Amino acid sequence: MSNFFKHIIIGSGAAGSMIATELIKKDSSVAIIEEGRSFNSDYFKAKKIATRNKNLWRNGGITAFFGKSIIPYAEGVAVGGTTVSNGGVIERPSIEWIENLKSKFKIDGFEYENLKNIFLEVEQKLNVRDHYKENENQNLDSKIWSNYLDKMKISYRKSNLAHTNCKRSNQCISGCPNDAKQTNVLLNYLPEAKKGGTKIFHKNKVIRIKKVGKHWDIYTINQNKKLIFKCEFLYMAAGAIQTPTLLKKNGLSKTAGQRLGFHLNYQIISKFKDVLNSKNGTIFTTDVNHYKNLGISFNPANFQKSYMFSKFSNLNNEQVNLIEKNISNYGMYITQLKVDGFASIKANLFGQPIITYELLNSDLVRIKQSIKIICDILIGSGAEEIILPYDNFKVLRSKKEINNLIDNFNLSKMNFVCAHMMSSCAMGNTGNEVVDGTGSLPGENRLMVVDASVIPECTGESPQLTIMSVAKRIIEIKMWNK
Ligand SMILES: Cc1cc2nc3c(=O)[nH]c(=O)nc-3n(C[C@H](O)[C@H](O)[C@H](O)COP(=O)(O)OP(=O)(O)OC[C@H]3O[C@@H](n4cnc5c(N)ncnc54)[C@H](O)[C@@H]3O)c2cc1C
Repeated sequence: MSNFFKHIIIGSGAAGSMIATELIKKDSSVAIIEEGRSFNSDYFKAKKIATRNKNLWRNGGITAFFGKSIIPYAEGVAVGGTTVSNGGVIERPSIEWIENLKSKFKIDGFEYENLKNIFLEVEQKLNVRDHYKENENQNLDSKIWSNYLDKMKISYRKSNLAHTNCKRSNQCISGCPNDAKQTNVLLNYLPEAKKGGTKIFHKNKVIRIKKVGKHWDIYTINQNKKLIFKCEFLYMAAGAIQTPTLLKKNGLSKTAGQRLGFHLNYQIISKFKDVLNSKNGTIFTTDVNHYKNLGISFNPANFQKSYMFSKFSNLNNEQVNLIEKNISNYGMYITQLKVDGFASIKANLFGQPIITYELLNSDLVRIKQSIKIICDILIGSGAEEIILPYDNFKVLRSKKEINNLIDNFNLSKMNFVCAHMMSSCAMGNTGNEVVDGTGSLPGENRLMVVDASVIPECTGESPQLTIMSVAKRIIEIKMWNK
């Protein structure tokens, strides 16, 4: 086997799959090096959720962010990256966000006119549309709040889901057992890249990158075997944590990973008088987007007992038993928050990045505001009980109890999760960014960062479409002069 390729991409997720699909259209020598293994729907059907989560995610799903409380961040490690086990919702970034690329970050070539056809292409390939049917007895956890939202003129929308024949097994985030969730690039972009001739080397973890003359040497470990690959052009698509970790570790950038943007999430469980059978629905069918300008949005989450109880370790046995007894009356919701603070990669311990984060006062205000809003919406929609992931928690049943919690709110008692990490190698031409407006490190024309790391600031929306579109546009500008 020759280990030389003109183009090598590290990582096969949202960005890596897009880059390979683009490059192979014009060049026959393209390879992807991927640390994870390949999982298909037979595997997802055969294995329990806990086993899948352990194997699909780095460190079993818990990459820790250290701060006031520990926030677990989930990084996918699989052929297809995090897209194999993400939520399946596809959202465009706002026009304002796109305009900022030029006005704030001085990046040319990423105007809406350049991006809109890419958005369309990805949306078509992933079969993105609104899959939510009003008249069906499903997704009642979404429908239960619509009367109240309509009455209060709180805007919400049907989410754009990348689903095909969804069987509502409600396990999107552990890998879809029915191949319905098309955000998984293993079902679309990667087969296309492979068909064009891209070679995919899975179970190969890149441990070292070295420039030798005009070429890059890439050292990997494949089940205790060391391999060396060589290429002319190297594309970093290992995700917003591993890409800066590799760049720092190999002395290629000092500033990579100093400033990581992220969205903060927390789940809420709510009991209603009506039977919802939330298990018969799916994730994210509606999106309460009324508060987007405040950086806050709400969606129904995947409803499985294992997800629910793992997120609410603050509950005691008695509370768990009570919930279990009336499980068909419960819904689980997720709040997504834009964050003004940031995280940073501080050190590297045995190859594992150590990440710390800091939230700003404005974030605390936003968190409290979001709790007040979602509790008001749930109570207004008929919720009898609200449960937050908050230590030593008492179930909330009235506005008075909610206000009391907010007045005495203690950030370190709240259990958050983080799913969307970006901007760790922000692109831009103002002099403050890690890579230039085409993803290249200063003075390094043959190494491009192309994944979530380059997104210059948080989108406030689910980021996969933005990541894939920016990746494609980088290739168009940099390689094809388009
Ligand atoms: C629970 C969850 C739900 C989500 N839901 C949504 C959603 O509904 N909609 C949405 O738009 N976004 C969602 N996201 C986010 C979205 O999936 C990610 O933002 C996106 O996949 C990031 O793309 P990427 O290419 O930067 O990295 P990834 O897709 O994570 O790909 C990186 C790849 O690089 C590989 N890699 C890393 N290090 C190495 C190494 N040293 N050697 C070789 N390979 C390596 C990894 O194994 C991985 O396969 C979700 C994320 C999570 C965690």
